[in-house]
Amino acid sequence: MSVHHAREHNLKNIDVRIPRDKLTVISGVSGSGKSTLAFDLIFGEGQRRYLESLNAYARQFVQPASRPDVDAIYGIPPAVAIEQRTSRGGRKSTVATLTEIYHYLRLMFVKLATQYCPSCDLPIEPQTTDAIFARLQKDYRGKAVTLLAPMVVARKGIYRELAQWSAERGFTQLRVDGVYQPTDNWPALDRYKEHDIELPLATLKIAPGQQTELLEALEQAIGLGNGVVIVAPGGKAKERLFSTQRACPGCGCGFPELDPRLFSYNSKHGWCTGCFGTGLKLKDFDEEQTGEESAWQAEEGTADTVCPKCDGQRLNPTALSVRFRHKSIAELAALPVDDAQKWFGSLKLKSAEQAIARDLLSEMQNRLHFLQKVGLNYLTLDRAAPTLSGGEAQRIRLAAQLGSSLQGVCYVLDEPTIGLHARDNRKLLQTLRELQRQGNTVLVVEHDEDTMREADHMIDIGPRAGVNGGEVVGEGSVKQLMKNPRSLTGQMLAKPLRHPMPELRNSEMRKLWDASALRIEKASLNNLANVSLSIPLRQLVAITGVSGSGKSTLVRGVLYPNLKQALANKRKKTHAWQGAADISGWENIDRILEVDQTPIGKTPRSCPATYIGIWDSIRKLFAGTVDARLRGYTPARFSFNAGDGRCEACGGQGMQKIEMNFLPDVRVPCDVCHGWRFNDETLSVRYKGKHIGDVLAMNIDEAAEFFKPISKVHHALCLLQDVGLGYLTLGQQSPTLSGGEAQRIKLVSELAKANMTPEDAKGRVNQHNLYVLDEPTVGLHMADVDKLLHVLHRLVDAGNSVLVIEHNLDVVAEADWIVDMGPEGGSGGGRVVAQGAPASVVRRKRSLTGQFLGEVLG
Ligand code: ADP
Ligand code: ADP
Ligand code: ZN
Repeated sequence: MSVHHAREHNLKNIDVRIPRDKLTVISGVSGSGKSTLAFDLIFGEGQRRYLESLNAYARQFVQPASRPDVDAIYGIPPAVAIEQRTSRGGRKSTVATLTEIYHYLRLMFVKLATQYCPSCDLPIEPQTTDAIFARLQKDYRGKAVTLLAPMVVARKGIYRELAQWSAERGFTQLRVDGVYQPTDNWPALDRYKEHDIELPLATLKIAPGQQTELLEALEQAIGLGNGVVIVAPGGKAKERLFSTQRACPGCGCGFPELDPRLFSYNSKHGWCTGCFGTGLKLKDFDEEQTGEESAWQAEEGTADTVCPKCDGQRLNPTALSVRFRHKSIAELAALPVDDAQKWFGSLKLKSAEQAIARDLLSEMQNRLHFLQKVGLNYLTLDRAAPTLSGGEAQRIRLAAQLGSSLQGVCYVLDEPTIGLHARDNRKLLQTLRELQRQGNTVLVVEHDEDTMREADHMIDIGPRAGVNGGEVVGEGSVKQLMKNPRSLTGQMLAKPLRHPMPELRNSEMRKLWDASALRIEKASLNNLANVSLSIPLRQLVAITGVSGSGKSTLVRGVLYPNLKQALANKRKKTHAWQGAADISGWENIDRILEVDQTPIGKTPRSCPATYIGIWDSIRKLFAGTVDARLRGYTPARFSFNAGDGRCEACGGQGMQKIEMNFLPDVRVPCDVCHGWRFNDETLSVRYKGKHIGDVLAMNIDEAAEFFKPISKVHHALCLLQDVGLGYLTLGQQSPTLSGGEAQRIKLVSELAKANMTPEDAKGRVNQHNLYVLDEPTVGLHMADVDKLLHVLHRLVDAGNSVLVIEHNLDVVAEADWIVDMGPEGGSGGGRVVAQGAPASVVRRKRSLTGQFLGEVLG
């Protein structure tokens, strides 16, 4: 497939060829144009092709993607993007539903499980046709009865058919969702909802001459629907004589036929009425509590407490008392992938069960196997989608695709190795290979070295970011790329970083600070196995371990919230620790800061310049010009957020929103200010020949040069360059930044505040911050990793503590201290496998991280 003369975003009229049915990696520094090529052009085109194949009716529900700026794209198959988004589906999406395992599990329960009475625990047996027949013969001899077939339908159009069908047989009414409806004047039913219908089949007299007819009608009713309901004909009451809906032999409670909806927490037939299938205690909702208590709960009760009615199992007692081999469906769903695989694998089935369950079991086993392959063996099947990390969610989607056995598709992935340990990286690569071998094209945007070395074909975009990027600097095999002097990626692959790099640390400055350590006793949240450990302060500490081993739980679940609380209440004598028995040694820390990947500002009014705090200085510079002083303009005039200086038409946003009927809103550059965000009077003030709108449009590299003489501004901009963000414009709207970019901007805004030189530091009261970072290398090109390392070590030089959760071995190798969690994920993890300086962790045989680290430490 090929792309001709692409100019979208920063692409410079490029031509690219991507081999079909191969694994291709697109590389390049952040901002070079990789996503533009992979997602906006190739995926966008593949999707458009797919949409065009849909009918007009279906198309009206999908947002039309605008055509990208490109002359032609040839030979793109239908494309599927496997994304990292976690939000879709909400609480009721689980690992099991996302992979369809739950779908098969429900079917298996319907067909093979035994129903027990929730009150007296006696098994409930379905009635056979023969039993019903005998009962009719015995109790209703000589009487007429009507047979109804209860069924669930969710197909528009079929309702009218059913009504006509009954009308033709002389029935004037039939029951829909429990209400009688006339068969000649059929009501409109919801098109996409399931409806319960009791279809009348026949009215028969129970007489010796009619036995065959009766048996046939019974068979037909049972075949059509879920069992059969027998009613006395005529009369308003429509007396229900009995139905095959089962009754408990002990207490006589009635039960519905087993049907997949009974096990669905999306259906009123299945869900727990206390939590509507979420498994969580709902705020403002507790039948058993008095008004006062529930009001209190509405405030205090967090959404994280489990529903007391179902104990987090999401289903109602009827559903939970259906068991297969002594296990309810919720108990099976609570198993981690590994355990579920073992459980199903060791099932001994009778031959009748074999015939029914063989296909269902193999579908489930396949999917479990795929989950293991992508390194998610530790996840429980009932884990809710919103609690998954982005990388986990992406890999679940990947596993689901593996099971789909599609062919001729182009899969597009964005950094699938996020959150993966080196060991699982290799498994993931095998998985991508498998997808490719099934006859698909796999296109991956990646910074990970192993992934690149595995690629059949590489496309290196660059040379740098933004206007300095957008070209194809190298193409071909990894070997070819390594020989290409224009390709930064090729150069890095040919000459990887050498560790250790002692120049990262300023030993003079480190001597200024006292060393001490944080002590955590018996941490027990999630899978943490009562671990006790020490974390040295004023060092760069890397927390490592395979995915699911407990790194985030330890750092973001236990340390961060506890220390945040404790530091806010320093004078308290005792502290209530959550998820750990005790935490000590924190008293000398001033602040704990999570430098995470959440957006830096939700409003388009925030941008890098405002966030790192240089915008005020720049506005003062403009206000200080002769022009501005003559006109009486103060710094307030140069704000795009408020005041007289901004463009009124767009409110300083530079863009205007056009509302389109039936289509998503379209944003176009403001036609009054042409995107400059300020009015003409303000724009007529110039500083060194540029107006304030020009400055917002500058990228950081340009701005660093432009503001060189203004040391405070220059310094902050250099820091942004140091973390590889030189390509961002000063005015880029924060919501458009990626998670990795946002995280690095936060890091810089902290760094801009930290003391930098020993001279600065001496004699000052040093503020000791503990920074917590989760995979700061996400989105970062290899060439920028050493810059990031400099930045992290500078924070430590200035007397701070830095704690990073990281898989990137270049970062781990340069940590001062490593805490390696594991050995495995889930219940196989939660312990400290090794701790110490990198060189000592390498010597620990039991440490997986140590084994891989050995390869990069010279
Ligand atoms: P990469 O994936 O290599 O990090 P991108 O393709 O995201 O790079 O970005 C390439 C260039 O295009 C950057 O200069 C970026 O700022 C710009 N860009 C990305 N998305 C948009 C957009 N929606 N509108 C305008 N410019 C964009
Ligand atoms: P890591 O950060 O090393 O990948 P985590 O701390 O995310 O590991 O996970 C450790 C264990 O805790 C895993 O078994 C994971 O499934 C479980 N876990 C993590 N978060 C949650 C959560 N919100 N709810 C339930 N279990 C969780
Ligand atoms: Zn405007």
